[in-house]
Amino acid sequence: DLAPVRRALISVSDKTGLIDLARALESLKIEILSTGGSAKAIREAGVAVRDVSELTEFPEMMDGRVKTLHPKVHGGLLALRDNGMHVASMAEHGIVPIDLLVVNLYPFEAALARGAGYDEMIENIDIGGPAMIRAAAKNHAFVTTVVDVQDYGALLEELKAHGDEAQTSYGFRQKMAQIAYARTGAYDAAVSTWMASAIGEETPRRRVFAGELKQTLRYGENSHQNAAFYTDGSNRPGVAVAEQLQGKELSYNNFNDTDAAFELVSEFLPTDGPAVAIIKHANPCGVAKGATMKEAYQKAFDCDRTSAFGGIVALNGALDGETAEAISEIFTEVVIAPAIHQEAKDIFARKKNLRLILAPGLANTAEAGLAWKQVSGGILVQDRDNGALTVDDLKVVTKITPTEAQMLDLLFAWKVAKHVKSNAIVYVKDGATVGVGAGQMSRVDSALIAAKKAERMAQALELPQPLTIGSAVASDAFFPFADGLLEAAAAGATCVIQPGGSMRDEEVIAAADEAGLAMVFTGMRHFRH
Ligand code: 5GP
Repeated sequence: DLAPVRRALISVSDKTGLIDLARALESLKIEILSTGGSAKAIREAGVAVRDVSELTEFPEMMDGRVKTLHPKVHGGLLALRDNGMHVASMAEHGIVPIDLLVVNLYPFEAALARGAGYDEMIENIDIGGPAMIRAAAKNHAFVTTVVDVQDYGALLEELKAHGDEAQTSYGFRQKMAQIAYARTGAYDAAVSTWMASAIGEETPRRRVFAGELKQTLRYGENSHQNAAFYTDGSNRPGVAVAEQLQGKELSYNNFNDTDAAFELVSEFLPTDGPAVAIIKHANPCGVAKGATMKEAYQKAFDCDRTSAFGGIVALNGALDGETAEAISEIFTEVVIAPAIHQEAKDIFARKKNLRLILAPGLANTAEAGLAWKQVSGGILVQDRDNGALTVDDLKVVTKITPTEAQMLDLLFAWKVAKHVKSNAIVYVKDGATVGVGAGQMSRVDSALIAAKKAERMAQALELPQPLTIGSAVASDAFFPFADGLLEAAAAGATCVIQPGGSMRDEEVIAAADEAGLAMVFTGMRHFRH
């Protein structure tokens, strides 16, 4: 199953590692054919190279749109070497076999990332590259296809692994062919996704998703499920592009929870001061702002100390030594922050199992984008929930108007509620959650559970009364009846933020007035499932 490699065609936009590769191929006695810019770079490095235009006897034309689209190239890639007719055709038309193809494509994704205009995007659609990749990969019985700079090393090892002559194994060629088709697939996915947005097509009839393996995982949510993590190429700041500084590899659940923690804490701009979120099973068990990062952590921790054990901690600013010290007092799975002081690294170095993650800045929670979710037989696609509110968006519906301090807590509670699984009820006091009710099938139960937890914390901390007394409460969706609101009032909440829009709004507003509550409507809902 070995195939000899005597002639290579190199056509790369990303010239990283090109010269080393060309030198290595030359030393393996492999003839190199190459396109304009690649050939120039190779030649300048003093490596022998033949221009593809010499092979095709056609100049590269139309701004490079037509360089390699020629039977001498495609015949050389596609011909079956063991098929008499194919071999005869090659002889008849002066086609020579091309055994190795090294191509990376026009940087369409990079042009997209820098926000290039329509015409520039069009020029960045590679045509000859994908055509060659697909041809070579189809003929992997004989031809080796390499589309990633990161595979150059493996290619060279393979070429040297089978004796004096440069050869590749069938298994290697198959593996490279699979990667090659994923690359052209992802490339066209990027093109079609870009086009959909460029022409304002929100629900295109056909849509493609592409992913790049970041990491295989030991298992999925449970140990009998296989799992892996794929990045989507968006480079969105977060767990996908973060740098792990220490600790065991992240598990499936770690990825999920760390993402939830980081997205939540990113709601709080560093300019508004330090903020910390502690997450368990994708729900916050404490979120707080503080004068210092340590204070923010402490206040978040005090919301629900029981649940915080084994949690994921996300910070909206630098992790300093005193905060690291406080975090390391209990067992914590993951800590993620956009900056980490050396002192904090030293403190966590003693906690070998703690996974410490440095994120490249906070996520932009206002950014538009798509979120998708698998259901049986399909994928549900929607816009990311990037809804955000300011005080000006709120409508006071009760006789009492919230004070300025209450408004701040209401908005804080609202931001947190956005990240709590529905039905979400969030009590907040002085910039810290004091009770979180998540994922219940009835809103009343979420209100009750959050209040119960606050009572339990009050006992544990030996407080005279639960912190829900005098708190602000947020509900992620409207109260369909007054009962949930009254539960919150019974727990001591004095002001309420909720979308409004229920058939019984009037009843709910009347109940709020009677209970002496101040209430604002957002006009926006934050379901999360
Ligand atoms: P170079 O820098 O060598 O001039 O160009 C390399 C790039 O050209 C590669 O990204 C390759 O995929 C692309 N390419 C090769 N042949 C063709 C072609 O016939 N048409 C187009 N549009 N691009 C090509």
